[in-house]
Amino acid sequence: MGADGANRARECVLSATAFSASSLVVSGRRYEKRLRFGRTKHHILQIMADNTPRLLTVAVTSRALFDLEEGHALFEQAGVDAYAAHQREHEDDVLAPGVAFPVVRKLLALNQGTPPEMPRVEVILLSRNSADTGLRIFNSIQHYGLDIVRATFTSGEATWPYIKPFGTDLFLSANPESVRRALSHGVAAAHILPRSPGDQVAAASMVPEEAARIHKSAQGTVDFCAERAQLRIAFDGDAVIFGDESERISREQGVTAFGLHEQQRAREPLSGGPFRNFLSALHTLQAAFPAGQASPIRTALVTARSAPAHERVIRTLREWGVRLDEALFLGGRHKGPFLEAFGADIFFDDSLHNIDSARQHQSVAAGHVPHGVANDPP
Ligand SMILES: [Mg+2]
Repeated sequence: MGADGANRARECVLSATAFSASSLVVSGRRYEKRLRFGRTKHHILQIMADNTPRLLTVAVTSRALFDLEEGHALFEQAGVDAYAAHQREHEDDVLAPGVAFPVVRKLLALNQGTPPEMPRVEVILLSRNSADTGLRIFNSIQHYGLDIVRATFTSGEATWPYIKPFGTDLFLSANPESVRRALSHGVAAAHILPRSPGDQVAAASMVPEEAARIHKSAQGTVDFCAERAQLRIAFDGDAVIFGDESERISREQGVTAFGLHEQQRAREPLSGGPFRNFLSALHTLQAAFPAGQASPIRTALVTARSAPAHERVIRTLREWGVRLDEALFLGGRHKGPFLEAFGADIFFDDSLHNIDSARQHQSVAAGHVPHGVANDPP
């Protein structure tokens, strides 16, 4: 293919990947290689049209995946130019892991044993950096051996519009507004909150050993289905897996009225909440592995409900054909200690009160789901 052909092919790829002066969507590492080796436009389009279904697609923002708080503070205080200069200056400095890093690492480990072109799980990176300043992020991804190949860099513009085209089942972001927009478009989404100052240092010091394990795993010498590698996900019930209709009763009429309401409707399934589809996708993914403790994924419902309000929940999940490995009916107890006992890597809840409780425990990534009556404007 001559220079004209290569240019035409390049134009074709760039338009197919929504490239513009201010945004870049990198849709798989292979297109770059194809350009380099001068394949035809037809070949490239075939690759770009690759819609091999994944069992689970998770989109994560760069600020949830890595600790970019220092750069973010500089951006807020000194503006985009100072931020860009800082990131370029530190391009070869590996970023410390962010709050969502351990979860992403465990998600990607679920692809062990699958062909690279047919992963069970895909993680997409969404970043408001420019592609230029985002180089540090890709360098860090490479450093930790994370198999993330699709990414968007939007130069300050919102990233959430790209969530749907990627077929995202779960969106994790450090930006609450992006999370609200994703939820309003029907995608399960959570605002990943930092734990407490100093935790990032602790996480960073943990990583060389963890990264070494990942590299070993790539060589097939470490079994990522070992107990410590098991991904444990905990969900609140009302306004997360389920709709918030019962929670409204509780808030408006009190706990006694709520109990009575749920008891009377025990055989009437609850409506689905923002995480229903994600839970179903996770359930399908779990089915690809052995059941029980040997499974690399374990799930728990951690709800403030207690008897007799438990029955409606159990019957609803039965109706949906979805199983959670554990169900904790806590009757209003603080959730944090129970999340730690379960060993949750990540926990999703609509109530900031419960999220604050989860944040007391360093091993749990707390994902706030700004949905339902608890998050209605005052
Ligand atoms: Mg709730």
